[in-house]
Amino acid sequence: MSQSLSLLKVLNPQAGWYRGDFHAHTNYSDGVHTPAQLVEVAIAEGLDFFAVTDHNTIDSFSKFGDDPTTLIIPGLEVTLKEGHFNVFGMEGRLDWMEHICTGKNISELTGIYGTTTALMQGASSQGLLNSINHPLMPWEPPLEWRDRATDLRYLDCLEIWNDPSWPENDHANPKAVALWTDWLNAGYRITAIGGSDYHQPAPEPGQDKPPERLGLPSTYVYAEQLSGAAILEGLRRRRAYVSMGARVTFQAQADGTTYEIGADLGERSGAIDFKATVTDCPSSGRAQIVRNGQVVSETPIEGGQAVLRWRNDADPARSDWCRLDVFGEEGQMMAITNPIYVGPRRRPVSHSYGDFASAPSGKQS
Ligand SMILES: [Zn+2]
Ligand SMILES: [Zn+2]
Repeated sequence: MSQSLSLLKVLNPQAGWYRGDFHAHTNYSDGVHTPAQLVEVAIAEGLDFFAVTDHNTIDSFSKFGDDPTTLIIPGLEVTLKEGHFNVFGMEGRLDWMEHICTGKNISELTGIYGTTTALMQGASSQGLLNSINHPLMPWEPPLEWRDRATDLRYLDCLEIWNDPSWPENDHANPKAVALWTDWLNAGYRITAIGGSDYHQPAPEPGQDKPPERLGLPSTYVYAEQLSGAAILEGLRRRRAYVSMGARVTFQAQADGTTYEIGADLGERSGAIDFKATVTDCPSSGRAQIVRNGQVVSETPIEGGQAVLRWRNDADPARSDWCRLDVFGEEGQMMAITNPIYVGPRRRPVSHSYGDFASAPSGKQS
């Protein structure tokens, strides 16, 4: 029997920050690499893990072999005219894939899974994670998310940073960050991730663009061990940051306890001391702590490094989210963390994708 991808296989029993990529294609859809070649690329890039996310097929799962150093997370890029979303964590074929995994580049919504919400709800109920990809990337056929009715309560993650080799993403990625910021302000705790959307190393003839790189951007995830189950649990707990090369830490200290990225300190009053560090930043620029969408503290990055300290006086009646943003000299993203949360939980009142101002003017479904 051919080996498939297991969520429980442990490649490293240590807890820690692991570096990976949540978006990659093989030649089972429109990538150029075989599964084995994609593993070689991941090894060359020094990644701990990557998610295989072919368009509307999981047929590659049994073809990866048994490399003991690179974790492969089973995923699927559900590819519809309404937009693209990754589902992570399936170990095999599931009922909702019947009309999705059809071998077509674009599948149709039908039957009991006739809407993107129903499909996400189905995947959620099976313990899988849903992540909208490149939500604001214009293209023809459309790559942006166009279903304004999608219910955000079934969305676990958002790809805030997609393949930077596409010139369109110079604008589309910052817009995706702005959309995510709107969602955070509304009370959603959707985990921001990155995806290189890797298809091939070199541009096609006539394409005027830099090469794609697996792991650019990377997503660092804090996991209890290096296994598919632990990495996905790290995403669920929002213990993740997206990076274009910089390493960061972002912590809150209160009452002698240290809290990490993704933590929820709950309702409290008094001082909370935030500390951020940046190392190995490929560009000079600036590091900023952002609270509820506003920059509250900033420091320059010199020699690839920065340390930033900021005290937040918590108001027990106020809901805060605080994250670290790192930008290069020309304003390019170097790293963005998921937030640390303080105060009572905000309850979103708007649930549809199209309710948010940064959402595209896509067609009503
Ligand atoms: Zn896509
Ligand atoms: Zn893709």
